[in-house]
Parts: sequence; structure tokens; C-alpha cells
Amino acid sequence: MNTFIVKIIFISLLLITNAHTNIQLIKKENSDSNTTLLIIAGVHGDEPGGYFAASILATHYDIKSKNLWIVPNLNQKSIQEDSRGIYGDMNRKFSAIDKGDKDANIIKEIKEIILSKNVSLVLNLHDGHGFYRKENHGKIFNPTAWGQTCVIDQCSLNQNQPFGNLNNIASTVKNNMNKKLLEEHHSFNVKNTKTKFDDEEMQLSLTYFAVTNNKPAFAIESSKNLSSLSQKVFYQLLAIEEFMNIMEISYTKKFELNESNLGDIIKGYGILGINDNILLNLSNIKKNLSYIPIKSKGNVFKFSNPLGSIKSSNGKFIVYIGNKSVTTLKPQFFKSASDYAKKFDAIIDGKTISFDNTSEIFVFDDFNIVEQADYRVNVIGYTSVKKKSESGIDIKLRDLNKRFSIDNNNKVYRVEFYKNDEFCFMSKIHFK
Ligand SMILES: [Zn+2]
Repeated sequence: MNTFIVKIIFISLLLITNAHTNIQLIKKENSDSNTTLLIIAGVHGDEPGGYFAASILATHYDIKSKNLWIVPNLNQKSIQEDSRGIYGDMNRKFSAIDKGDKDANIIKEIKEIILSKNVSLVLNLHDGHGFYRKENHGKIFNPTAWGQTCVIDQCSLNQNQPFGNLNNIASTVKNNMNKKLLEEHHSFNVKNTKTKFDDEEMQLSLTYFAVTNNKPAFAIESSKNLSSLSQKVFYQLLAIEEFMNIMEISYTKKFELNESNLGDIIKGYGILGINDNILLNLSNIKKNLSYIPIKSKGNVFKFSNPLGSIKSSNGKFIVYIGNKSVTTLKPQFFKSASDYAKKFDAIIDGKTISFDNTSEIFVFDDFNIVEQADYRVNVIGYTSVKKKSESGIDIKLRDLNKRFSIDNNNKVYRVEFYKNDEFCFMSKIHFK
């Protein structure tokens, strides 16, 4: 069995194109027009339907005309904690905010983005309680519920303002959405909070800030009472697609919009790059990984998933995708080598190959990292009695201690390269 495959994971770690330091703004632009839809998600950290939808929009939709801007995780710290707002309700800070408020910088930056000349329409994504109904049908279905609504603050903006007829647009969106419901009781409604006259609370909100600055704005509320995250994301994306249709933003997407596909996409946590010398596939990764060779400070973490984030806790690094803690990395501190070879040789199932660093090498039977002067190889999970470097040894799956695999199936193992006790990079051996 001499077949082997060397697969290098090419990743486009998302380019965060902005001058904002507290906010991630992803721009998908075309040069044909200034019309721009701005999607803001994650103002409330415990409403994952909104922010997973925004993230999928960023990674799985191509915008063919006009522009889409996405802020997928406005309140990132609260998202990690799965909390509405660790510093209070961020969506009540848009009218006035104390200078010392811990959300002040985020509020300042998102206001600037909302007021950008190009922004034509703003959607603020939420998961709300229950299912809104005009009449009272009990605890879940009633007029005070927010779920399954397109929320407007008032019927319209100034005359001649493009997309200023909020009520007409919201009604069109909900009518079209109601043709595609997963279940009948998921029906969408328009909820007009008549903020200026009736709702002092909502006068402090993001959408009201936009509307009072003559920017058309809507909140999309999926329901917290839907049975799965995929269902919440389904309705968010359905609503966003309707808004894109109204704004004549043309798009293609890489999947058919249904609950099952969304379930798979949500679980695709993507790749985490650390310091340009480690790439970890976060899907199916073990809950804890130890002795990760990183620097004692100044580490750079890059995610392919827009919802990726890191929290330092007790000397460890907890890796999040949205509100899901995916793995915890326990570091072992090393200096990063600045100068090292970019290619190494290995004998994979009897055939000699050359591989790039940080690549993932697929193996059927056994592998042997060819010795290279000045480099020490550490195969994590392999115990060599005689040798300092674990190069030049045929290693099979059964020689490796499963406790040290990267993945839950115990098929992927780390191979780390050192030079003068400085860490160069981590490759991975993946047994088929
Ligand atoms: Zn909310």
C-alpha cells in the first residue's frame, strides 16, 4: 500500500479590513454601486441564531453586485460567556453612554460604521422570546413576545429616502418568508414598536439611533423557542436574503438553504492558525490539548471562522467559536525560531516525499521523518527510548499513545520541529 496523499491546507484566514480596533467588519464589495447592506449581529451575546447566520453569510455567500458589510460578533466578550451583556444591555447604550462604560469604544465605532455614507440599510440580528402574535394565546404566543418578527421603530423615514418605507419593506419580507416556513407556527410578523411615542426603552437602541439619523434600520428576531440553532439560523438567513432581493444585491451561495445543511455548516469550526507556524483543524478537535509550543507573549491567533476568539484563563487559552468553547490549549512556552527550512522530507508508506511545514500529511500505514541536520523532531505521543530526535524512525498508528492525538477519532498526531531548542513549526500526520 504505497499510496499517499500530501494535503496542504490552504486557508484564507479572513482579512479584517478596517481601521476599527474593537470591531470586526467584513466587507464584500463590488465597484458597481454604493448601495450597501450592513448586517450587525451579536449585540446580545446569548442570541446565537443571529451571529451564526452572520458568520455563514461571510463565509458561504458570494456577493455579485452592490455591497454587503458584516459585523458578525459585535459583543464578543458577552458571546464567549453566552450572556446577554456582561457589562449590561449593549442595545440600551445608543442614546447616551457613560465615558467609563466598558462598552463605550464599541458603541463609538459601530455608530461610525452605521453612519458611513455608503450604508443604505441596517439589519440588527436577534433571537427573541416566544412567537409574536397580535392576540394573546398564552405564555409563548402573545403580543409581548419578540420571536419571529421583523421589527420597525416607525412606519417610514423622510420622503425620498431610499428604502425609507420601513413598513412596506418589512411586510414584503415577512410575506415572502411565510411561504417558506419549516412549520406553520413559525410564521413571521411585523412588529412596529412605535418607538418615538410608545417605547422609551427602544429609544436607546441601535435601530432607533440609525432611524433618527435617517438610516433605514430593522431588527430581525428569530425565536429563542425554536427547537435548534439551525432553525434560528435558517430564518435569519431567509430574512437577509429577502432584504438582499429588495435591495437588488445579487448573490450566490455554496449550499441549499435548509436545516440539515445549516447543521453541518455550523459544526464546521474551521482552522485556527497560531503564529504562522501552527494550523489546527477545530472541527472534531479534542476538548484539551497540552504542551502547545507557543510564545510566552505576543502570540497571534487567526481564525478562518469569523466567530473564532480566544480567552486567556489561568495560563490556558480557551478557543471559542461563537458561544461554544471548542478546545482548551495548555501552552508550553518556547522561543519561535525565525529562520528555518520550509521543506522537509518524509518516507510515507515506503515512498519519499517532500512536504511544506504546517501541512497535514495523510498516511495509510507508517511514516518516517527523514533526519535533517540541526533539527530535532518531536512526534507527540511517541516515546523513543534511545533517540533525542524522533526522525529516522518508522512509526505506525499503534506506536502512538491515543491520549496525545489532536482529534476525537485518535487519527491525527502532531510532529514538531525544533532548532537550537527554538520551536520552528508543527506538521500533522493524519492516518487514513
Ligand atoms: Zn436581542
